[in-house]
Amino acid sequence: MVNRRKAIENIFKGIGILGTGGLIWGTAAKAASDLHPVLRPPGAIPEHDFKKACIKCGKCVEVCPYDTLKLANVDDDSFIGTPYFEPRKTPCYLCTDAPCTTECPTNALDITKLQDEQEKIDINKSKMGLAVVHKESCIAFWGIQCVACYRSCPLISEAITLEYEKNEVTKKHANLIPVIHSDICTGCGICEHACVVEKAAIKILPVELAEGEVGDHYIKSWDKNDENRMQEKNASHSNDKDVESSLDYLNDENELFD
Ligand code: SF4
Ligand code: SF4
Ligand code: SF4
Repeated sequence: MVNRRKAIENIFKGIGILGTGGLIWGTAAKAASDLHPVLRPPGAIPEHDFKKACIKCGKCVEVCPYDTLKLANVDDDSFIGTPYFEPRKTPCYLCTDAPCTTECPTNALDITKLQDEQEKIDINKSKMGLAVVHKESCIAFWGIQCVACYRSCPLISEAITLEYEKNEVTKKHANLIPVIHSDICTGCGICEHACVVEKAAIKILPVELAEGEVGDHYIKSWDKNDENRMQEKNASHSNDKDVESSLDYLNDENELFD
């Protein structure tokens, strides 16, 4: 946190030499917000558009019954005046009527992102972030039975499941480890809040940071969309080795174990 603050202070100092107030403030705020990821309330539109659409009125903050949301100030790592939350301190408790989202006057928080086909609010459609587990600091990976994050999850056995893994130390027991399911996790952060170790071993990251991206050149032949892509590639690069069927590749044991 100290380093983070220092970095932001340096940005402010550096830009301070350049010129007038508006430029200093605007540029510094942008630099500060780009420096560290922030978690937005349910229904937030993509970050780039959110920063433009949010008029910093604070209505979402006012209506949150759990005081989860805060408006970023100069000391925070977020875009000044915009709402965010820190799950380790206070997570989002997923109000079923999503008052923060419905109060937003500009659609920076877009209620349609939380609605089902009948336009009924389904707060479990939230994608505020994605939980990730740091193996080295999660005591479940040491063989200690800890299910605090699993038990606290409002989507228990869906967003987090427990899976058995052989305990390599005792060779007799099994570790019961938490596994996150990214398609279900809402990013509410209740797990991060509940984590028993000193610095949470499970953390919520913005989805775009937490998720990887395979790229076009890997193809799952069991996935229809991928298979279509492969056909298209095959048509345009008939001699390209990279687009051989991935199923052939997986089945080609000799090549793997020679
Ligand atoms: S859903 Fe409820 S707890 Fe979560 S941020 Fe909105 S008002 Fe606060
Ligand atoms: S953030 Fe944690 S508690 Fe919330 S849905 Fe995801 S796994 Fe469950
Ligand atoms: S609460 Fe923390 S330490 Fe316990 S299993 Fe979950 S992530 Fe691991």
